[in-house]
Amino acid sequence: MRNEPVRAFHLRFGSHELIESFKQFIEKVLVPKGINHLIIECNTSFVFETHPEITAGTLTKQDAREITAVCKQNGIRVIPLFQCLGHQGWGGAPNSILKAYPEFDETPHISVEAKWPDFFCRSWCPLHPEVNDLVFELMDELIEAFETDAFHVGMDEVYEIADDHCPRCKGKERSELFAKAVNDMYGYIVEKRGLQMFMWADRLNDSEKTGYNPWEGDTFGTHKAISAIPKDIVLMDWHYDKLDSYPSVTIFLENGFSVIPSCWYKTEAALDLLKESERQANETAVSEKLQGMAITSWNQWDKEAFEKFMSMTADPVSEDNEIGELDELYRTLGIITGKLSE
Ligand SMILES: [Zn+2]
Repeated sequence: MRNEPVRAFHLRFGSHELIESFKQFIEKVLVPKGINHLIIECNTSFVFETHPEITAGTLTKQDAREITAVCKQNGIRVIPLFQCLGHQGWGGAPNSILKAYPEFDETPHISVEAKWPDFFCRSWCPLHPEVNDLVFELMDELIEAFETDAFHVGMDEVYEIADDHCPRCKGKERSELFAKAVNDMYGYIVEKRGLQMFMWADRLNDSEKTGYNPWEGDTFGTHKAISAIPKDIVLMDWHYDKLDSYPSVTIFLENGFSVIPSCWYKTEAALDLLKESERQANETAVSEKLQGMAITSWNQWDKEAFEKFMSMTADPVSEDNEIGELDELYRTLGIITGKLSE
């Protein structure tokens, strides 16, 4: 691992009303814990000035500037996350992008009432000739507002791709379409704007080869895209439960990628992932490409959750007792950042 490891925290946030709580949370929790990367998943919750039809939350440009100022004062790199390709809504319900531009929907024939496990969530069509122009304009606003040098494009759990009903994608290779979407984003974010690009790694994991389930790994054929995308994309390889092994860490490192293993709240699983990732990295010739670790959070960050977190004690709760998700997330945050600071 390189000298100053990445100690990243991820959360979903898109609320103007909670901006003071969030800034306090950064200063009172993330800074003392030594977090140096903050991934803010705002998706469509930003107040887009060029595209008000996409705005589905209340986070303003001024809010973003204030968050960035607090982070910069404290040596934290801010990385906005905007879900690309997949996760364009929940179940059959479209998000604001597909509501405003239904022509971008990869699966318009699916009922808005559709629910998991029949249907997970919608994707945009990577071959629609106008979708990228819209997305790049949205990205421009986020990049400017957060004054960032890096961007996270999401791209996890993309299941609706190369749909048989899509006139553009029908019959095409899923891995080629996935790689095209990644490369389109790369072309804009890295080549045009000069930023670093981050993405979730699950669609690049061959489920059969790695033994991962269909969430952490791919069973539909997108994983072959691994050989068709640039190696300077930072892959966030998430595993939230303790597994027998995490072979993707070595696979990504040996393929030339930088990797940030990513945990959730479960302490035992997080520690195991970190330990295993470090062990694997040390067995490669490129151990410095293991950049650190990210702690993800998927709870609702309302005022109560921020306040609860800020009132927690400095000492992490001991490792072996049963505790609630937020308590355990706090414990994991303390233990993982501590390990990364050793
Ligand atoms: Zn399509």
